[in-house]
Amino acid sequence: MLKTRITEFFGVERPIVQGGLMWVATAELVSAVANAGGMGFMTALTFPDAERLRAEIRKCRERTDKPFGVNLTFLPTLRPPDYPALIRVCIEEGIRFIETAGRNPEPYMPQIKAAGIRVIHKCTSVRHALKAERVGCDAISIDGFEAAGHPGEDDVTTLILVPLVRDAVGLPLIASGGFADGRGLVAALALGADGMNMGTRFVATREAPVHENLKNELIRRSETETRLIMRSLRNTERVLHNRAADKVLEIESMGNTQIQDLIPYVSGLKGREMLEGGDVEKATMAAGQCIGLIRDIPTCRELLDRIMAEAEEILKSRLARMLSK
Ligand code: NAD
Repeated sequence: MLKTRITEFFGVERPIVQGGLMWVATAELVSAVANAGGMGFMTALTFPDAERLRAEIRKCRERTDKPFGVNLTFLPTLRPPDYPALIRVCIEEGIRFIETAGRNPEPYMPQIKAAGIRVIHKCTSVRHALKAERVGCDAISIDGFEAAGHPGEDDVTTLILVPLVRDAVGLPLIASGGFADGRGLVAALALGADGMNMGTRFVATREAPVHENLKNELIRRSETETRLIMRSLRNTERVLHNRAADKVLEIESMGNTQIQDLIPYVSGLKGREMLEGGDVEKATMAAGQCIGLIRDIPTCRELLDRIMAEAEEILKSRLARMLSK
């Protein structure tokens, strides 16, 4: 058992968070994480509208009586979402935690906070963490350069970012970016975080609604096989190295890139086809450097049991032995 400010904050047994994963964090995965003692966030933008999000929240409730939350990502999109409607559904369905990401959640804070929902803001720099604290967020999830998806434009690694954010803000803190095992959890706690977030590691679990080809691809690939795309648009995304990523980089290298040029490769709808159909080259797919650490496809329960056992062994034996010498 590890009791931290994050287990207390969410009311869960384990300081392990599954942050929003576009197309992947559905009721199936989120409820599996919750039932394994972690904290899962369903990704609101995965669903075409607010009513479909409502249905998914209800489906998740049927599968677990443990806490779970909803992720709201504010980034440029090809299909602009109706954020107030998504938030209204979260309120009506009794969601107690919202993970915001991508941009400052300030415009939506009055609506969210009036309902007593706690906000965990996922961000990529000390200044954004400070801003999140100022606008009334209740916890910070800080994403280092290793992370999948959008790691920001500053390229500061988790090893540096977590202690810097710990020094700068007093809120409960989740470390994100590069985490996949019990060693990572102990490291996150040592750096000053109260828990760790994993994304890519959860994609390679039995419950993730992703084609087996892609899960096996994550096992096969090494830590050097991710690429940073959309840098030229200041909307950098870390993705698995594949043909689609190479094509995006080739277009970007020609200069004066517009998002329209990249849509055939980066569009989320194409990404969803790839996740469902299993064609690894079809589109870009968010993946973190931690793919080098992924070697199997466990259930969420097996994964979290293993991480906790490993973390406890490190704390009680390996590190304790060093102290007693
Ligand atoms: P999408 O199909 O709307 O867009 C595809 C990609 O292009 C995304 O990375 C998006 O940020 C980027 N993009 C779109 N319009 C842009 C513009 N005008 N300028 C620069 N970049 C632009 O994306 P989607 O896969 O349907 O996802 C919806 C939103 O969720 C996007 O903002 C995406 O970045 C974000 N996202 C969230 C997560 C998460 O885990 N919460 C993961 C991946 C993506």
